[in-house]
Amino acid sequence: MTAALYVHWAFCPYICPYCDFAKWAYDERAAERYVSALKAEIVQAPALQASTVFYGGGTPNAYAPAELVRVLALLRERFGVRDDAEVSTEVNPDRSLTSGFDELRAGGFNRLSIGAQSFEAAELHVLGRQHTADDVAETVRRARAGGFGNVNVDLMFGVPGQTEASWARSLDAAIALGVEHVSTYGLTIEEGTPYARWQAREPAAFADDEREARLYALAIEKLGAAGFEHYEISNFARPGFRCEHNANYWRNGAYLGLGVGAASYLGGVRSTHTRDRAAYEAAALAGEAIPGESEELTGDARTGEAVMLALRTSEGVDARTFRERYGVDVFTHYAPIIAEYAAAGLLVAGDGSVRLTARGRFLANDVCGAFLART
Ligand code: SF4
Repeated sequence: MTAALYVHWAFCPYICPYCDFAKWAYDERAAERYVSALKAEIVQAPALQASTVFYGGGTPNAYAPAELVRVLALLRERFGVRDDAEVSTEVNPDRSLTSGFDELRAGGFNRLSIGAQSFEAAELHVLGRQHTADDVAETVRRARAGGFGNVNVDLMFGVPGQTEASWARSLDAAIALGVEHVSTYGLTIEEGTPYARWQAREPAAFADDEREARLYALAIEKLGAAGFEHYEISNFARPGFRCEHNANYWRNGAYLGLGVGAASYLGGVRSTHTRDRAAYEAAALAGEAIPGESEELTGDARTGEAVMLALRTSEGVDARTFRERYGVDVFTHYAPIIAEYAAAGLLVAGDGSVRLTARGRFLANDVCGAFLART
């Protein structure tokens, strides 16, 4: 079996108030124990051939480049990562964490994803980020000097205090850096975070749907005008630089997640490791199964999920591929839903595919939800 590999690096130099990922503030001893557990899990993971590798977190570069490279070497040994495979790591652009890109490049990484979020000092402050706009530019410069020709910048819209003008400046700044890929995510408020408490106290500080839609439209307009393909709801790439690792998710392809809280989808079974780090480490180090949850996706749950993922992409659902893989004719199986959303101008069906319209991308959650809900 071939699968994409995701490796979760669980430590951060600081904790951002909006974040709901499985992450902890960096502590050297804890970080050492965690990486030992990660290596133990890699050694006992199911045998498969890796198509791509993605390091996420947390903050992978809270660890030294040599450690990231050592784990990649182990992944190569264990999963036969091909030399031409896309191998990405997320990077926090804090200047103190961005040395050694040449070491990463020599060790086999060929794509960087920089968590810029914004180029505006006030927005970075409100997001609790400790880097500056100059740090992002410096990270790109160091990445280029280190031999990286494939660089993504993550940006966030809907940040409290953000205006259309300040969002436009961030987009322009990202474009001016000459990166190959830009991801734009709307801020989501996750339960239990400091941001959730802030929103409960002061809802007006946060962008409403209408404002979010205007900010998203601005991203589409500016990145499109700069020559980026809007190939997935949140993702824009220069031709030839789509993220292959994520493309596998949207194809509903198999993936193996390693690390605390990581998710896998193998053989139609979706599973998620526990977010209890101590429990994760104890199991991995003892060579036992990692505790967590799993569910087998069958029938409409499986096809609904596949439609939802494919609709995120500019190509949408390819009916022939869908029929071959799931034995389901998407046009007939989902006829009432397609008819309803096509009439509303949110979907277009024909020429062998079902796709979101430009307007449909703004309401993708509603449209996808309808396919998921079909039973
Ligand atoms: S947003 Fe990123 S850097 Fe901030 S706490 Fe979450 S994982 Fe860490």
